[in-house]
Amino acid sequence: MNKLEAHIVLARCPKHNKDLYGIRMEKTQNGWKLTWAFPVDEGKAKSEGYDRTELRGNFSPAENYNGCPMCKAKVFLYCPNCSKITCYYGESHASCAWCGFSGNIEEQDDLSLKGGTM
Ligand SMILES: [Zn+2]
Ligand SMILES: [Zn+2]
Repeated sequence: MNKLEAHIVLARCPKHNKDLYGIRMEKTQNGWKLTWAFPVDEGKAKSEGYDRTELRGNFSPAENYNGCPMCKAKVFLYCPNCSKITCYYGESHASCAWCGFSGNIEEQDDLSLKGGTM
């Protein structure tokens, strides 16, 4: 029996008032697969403990992944300062919707992006 491991990771959407949403990620042999994104309110995120989830590894969207519920982005920016994620649109300079850290995007491997220093 394969036990499915899945977690909810929180992200913020910079295009929509930095609203919170959750991304369901499933563990596969090749890393984490993004399977579903849904809006979450701050209170629920805290009570469910979503804000404490931190995952490492490779991330890739499942074929039918729906993307950010507000802006539809399927790619996210990983903040090296606070370890949280924000919708990302391919800019060379971007900022974190959680802590405001901003920098040039130096490194890109599929979905996990890292902001550099100012
Ligand atoms: Zn978004
Ligand atoms: Zn941050």
